[in-house]
Amino acid sequence: MDYILQTQKLCKQYGKFKALNELTINVPKGSIYGMVGRNGAGKTTLIRIITGLNNATSGEFSLFGVKNNDGKILEVRRKTGAVVETPSLHPEMSAKDNLIQQTKALGISDEKLDDILKLVGLANTGKKKAKNFSLGMRQRLGIAFSLVGDPEFLILDEPINGLDPQGIIEVREMLMRLNKEKGITILISSHILDELARLATHYGFIEQGHVIKEMSAEELEKACRTALHVNVNNTAMLSEVLDGMGAEYRVYSVNEADIFTPMQVTPLVLALNEKNCFVNSMSERHESLESYFMGLVGGVRNV
Ligand code: ATP
Repeated sequence: MDYILQTQKLCKQYGKFKALNELTINVPKGSIYGMVGRNGAGKTTLIRIITGLNNATSGEFSLFGVKNNDGKILEVRRKTGAVVETPSLHPEMSAKDNLIQQTKALGISDEKLDDILKLVGLANTGKKKAKNFSLGMRQRLGIAFSLVGDPEFLILDEPINGLDPQGIIEVREMLMRLNKEKGITILISSHILDELARLATHYGFIEQGHVIKEMSAEELEKACRTALHVNVNNTAMLSEVLDGMGAEYRVYSVNEADIFTPMQVTPLVLALNEKNCFVNSMSERHESLESYFMGLVGGVRNV
C-alpha cells in the first residue's frame, strides 16, 4: 500500500509532559483518514509537526515518502494544504478576491480559482463580502485557501466544529468531492464522530499522544458489535443486575446503555423490575463509532 504520511514513534515533550508519546500513524494514499481522540489527545500537536509549525522532540515522519530530516521535505510540503486554525479572511472582499490575494501571496497563477470556488460550493457568491458569509461558507473558503496550491494531501483540524447541520452537510459533500473527483488524500480530526463515520475510509484512534488502534472503515464495521440498546429509569440498578449475570455492557448515561451479551429479554425485564428498574424502550442496534471509541479508551464500565 502507498502511504502519503507515515510517522514513526513521534514524540513531543513540553517539560516532562508528553503531548505525543511514540505516535505511529499510517495514512494511505487516497484515503479520508479520521483522527479520533479526546480533548488533549495530541491531534493538533501532530498536525502542527507535520505541517512544519512545530518540531518533534524525537521520532520521525515521512511525507510523500520523504523523511522529515531530508532537505526535500519543504518541496513535498507544497503538495500539502492545511487548515489548522481558523484562516484569516479579508472580511471586505468577495470569495474570489480573497483567493486572488492568496495566489498573490504565494506567487502562483490564479487561473484555477473558478474551479476551486466550484469545488467548495462558493461559485455563486459573486460580490458578496466574506464578512456576510455563514460560518459554513467561511469554513469552506478557508479550505479553498488551502486548495490554491493544488495539494494532493489536505490536513484539516476540526473542520466542522461549530457548524449547523446544513453547514456540516455542505462541508461533508465538499470533502467527498475533493477526495473522489480530485483524488486528494484527507487527514481530518473531528470530535463529531457520527459525522466522521460518514466520511472516513480509515481511522486512527489516539489516546494520550499514542495511536492505540488504526483500522479501515471495513474493519471498524466488522469490529462494531450488535447491541441491545436500553433506555431505563436507572442505569445504576441495570448495572447491578447485569453484573450479577456476568453480562458485557456499556453505560452512557443515567438512562442509556448497550448490552452486548445476547440474552432473553423477558427474564431481563423481570429481574430489572424486581430492583425497581423499569425499561422505557429497547431496540437492537449496531455499535456506533462513538461507542466503539469509548470502549477502546476505557471511559466506560465492564467492557
Ligand atoms: P483538542 O481536541 O482539544 O484540540 P488535541 O488532541 O488537538 O485536543 P493538542 O492540542 O495536540 O490536543 O494538545 C495535546 C496536549 O499537549 C494537551 O494536554 C495540551 O495542553 C498540551 N500542549 C499543547 N501545546 C502545548 C504547549 N505549547 N505547551 C505545553 N503544553 C502544550
